[in-house]
Amino acid sequence: KVPVITIDGPSGSGKGTICQLLAARLGYHYLDSGALYRLLALAAKRHGVAFDNVESLAVLAAHMDISFRTQDNGDAPRVMLEGEDVSSLIRTESVGTEASLVAAFPEVRTALLQRQRAFAVMPGLVADGRDMGTVVFTDADAKIFLTASPEERAERRYNQLIDKGESVSLAALVERVRKRDERDMNRKVSPMVPAANAILLDSTGMSIDEVLQKVVDHVTA
Ligand code: C5P
Repeated sequence: KVPVITIDGPSGSGKGTICQLLAARLGYHYLDSGALYRLLALAAKRHGVAFDNVESLAVLAAHMDISFRTQDNGDAPRVMLEGEDVSSLIRTESVGTEASLVAAFPEVRTALLQRQRAFAVMPGLVADGRDMGTVVFTDADAKIFLTASPEERAERRYNQLIDKGESVSLAALVERVRKRDERDMNRKVSPMVPAANAILLDSTGMSIDEVLQKVVDHVTA
């Protein structure tokens, strides 16, 4: 059986960074499931599929031509859509919001299920998302739910956006973080909740190294 570690939680909790560092440490593969929903939102826009056209969204989810290109230097994998590097394009606030809209459709989630499970190959997988432990990899070997206060998550996001030259207000971001959480937590299918057997980790006020150490302690215990 392929070892799988799931890390779920809201955006800004540090999940992405922690998952990549953990995967590198263990020599495992890394699945950024949020990128799949972001890719779907981008692909839908490009193909003129409306965000409420569930049937076409599901077809697109099952068939869109995507890949992750691992970087030798330890940087985040490049995200490819139809052969084009869309890594930065999918990281905007608007694509994040659109991803959360398309992610609310059960048909879309079902269409992405097998694609996500296909990432579980030897020597192992670190899976990053909202429902990795509750839906996609229910029999994972270790499950972690990583969170942080909305204010701190908005602030981390704020710093990332400023670095990229996007102009945003911190207050607006706190509001957006809350809205997105609410939608992700309250949707009918695969809501963002900790798996019954997940450990909860609150990264508020913790450094990346501290969080990574806690996670490593847990998965190697
Ligand atoms: O993690 P990230 O911010 O990239 O995810 C974008 C959106 O995709 C989330 O707000 C959520 O609605 C959706 N998502 C999801 N299930 C996952 C990963 C992401 O519904 N496993």
